[in-house]
Amino acid sequence: CGIVGYAGGRSALDVVLTGLKRLEYRGYDSAGVAVLADGGLAAAKKAGKLANLDKELADRPLPAGTTGIGHTRWATHGAPTDTNAHPHLDNAGRVAVVHNGIIENFAALRAELAKRGHTLASETDTEVVGHLLAENFSSCGDLAEAMRQVCRRLEGAFTLVAVHADAPDVVVGARRNSPLVVGIGEDEAFLASDVAAFISYTREAVELGQDQVVELRRDGVTVTGFDGAPGEVRTYHVDWDASA
Ligand code: GLU
Repeated sequence: CGIVGYAGGRSALDVVLTGLKRLEYRGYDSAGVAVLADGGLAAAKKAGKLANLDKELADRPLPAGTTGIGHTRWATHGAPTDTNAHPHLDNAGRVAVVHNGIIENFAALRAELAKRGHTLASETDTEVVGHLLAENFSSCGDLAEAMRQVCRRLEGAFTLVAVHADAPDVVVGARRNSPLVVGIGEDEAFLASDVAAFISYTREAVELGQDQVVELRRDGVTVTGFDGAPGEVRTYHVDWDASA
């Protein structure tokens, strides 16, 4: 339902939670975050309101990091439980992914992954993406390329945003028939399903096109098609008042 990603110099957790609060009005049934820190990945997720996630984070704080992602879920596949909340991780706990929309061919992908020895923890259509990203990253070593390879295998409508512990300063996003907007700040960059999530930090935005992947770093963004062809980055200024 709501997606936020951040790469920069601030606390990623603060930026992501602030963004998720700005998207709360859309409604959701669960929420979660993942941050990259100390060479690893740490995640927290809870069914219910963001207040439940806040409490979880107070009880079990995440290490401080400046790269992170977050999600508010509106369940389509699998009940609104802690396990089905996003982010979804691979079995090694190195990749985290959040997703809006529906991956229509998830059942075939789940069966394929199970055959290759992956254990799927949730009932969501989303989880397959984390496992596929982990496999593809381990062969190509590039998170944006891994995302392009995975997206070419997916059917349906999706916005995907992911981080990998072995790509410590990178957030990758992708979209097909579902919105994803990039925010460009000074030495920081944002990703969100809606500009409202980052409007308090920057008003320089880039709207991703259909079937595009974005690689987000604090010093800039790179856009490509699912086929790897370079995409145009056209910034625009968000001038409407989103402070209400
Ligand atoms: N289909 C996914 C799920 O049920 C994503 C739902 C959403 O857009 O929040 O977990």
